[in-house]
Amino acid sequence: MAGDEPVRLRGHHLLCLLTYKGLGYSPGFVAGMTATAGRLAAGTMAEIVEDPDDICAPLCCVEEHPHCHEATVPERDRRALFLIAAVLGRPLMAGDRLVLDQDIRVRLRAAYRDGAFEAACALCEWQPLCRDIAASDYAGTLFHSPDEPA
Ligand code: SF4
Repeated sequence: MAGDEPVRLRGHHLLCLLTYKGLGYSPGFVAGMTATAGRLAAGTMAEIVEDPDDICAPLCCVEEHPHCHEATVPERDRRALFLIAAVLGRPLMAGDRLVLDQDIRVRLRAAYRDGAFEAACALCEWQPLCRDIAASDYAGTLFHSPDEPA
């Protein structure tokens, strides 16, 4: 993938990046999340997609039970985009592009900690862990630029 191509990102993964500290469904998923967090934190544009994105699409053909085929995942995406749009005060839908800069990351993390995304994360088995990470001030998370506190 060329360095300046947008990162294809499905809605709920935007939330997952906020609490990401190197844990995930499989080594392949973790590798994709880490690479994506690095590209986005470096300023690469994100493009919102409805289908498997740059994190999970490479796994769809190689993993026996890729999580992106779970029935709740599209609904998780819809809820996440709706709630993120409300926090950012702008529409957000498939095809939209945005840079997830420090200002946006700080706003989304504060909203996450305040429970703004509970309705999306309620559909996910990782919610207790992500809640704890948010409550711990995102210590050890990986989605930030080198000079920005986690
Ligand atoms: S609870 Fe699930 S959907 Fe929500 S941020 Fe955590 S991993 Fe992502």
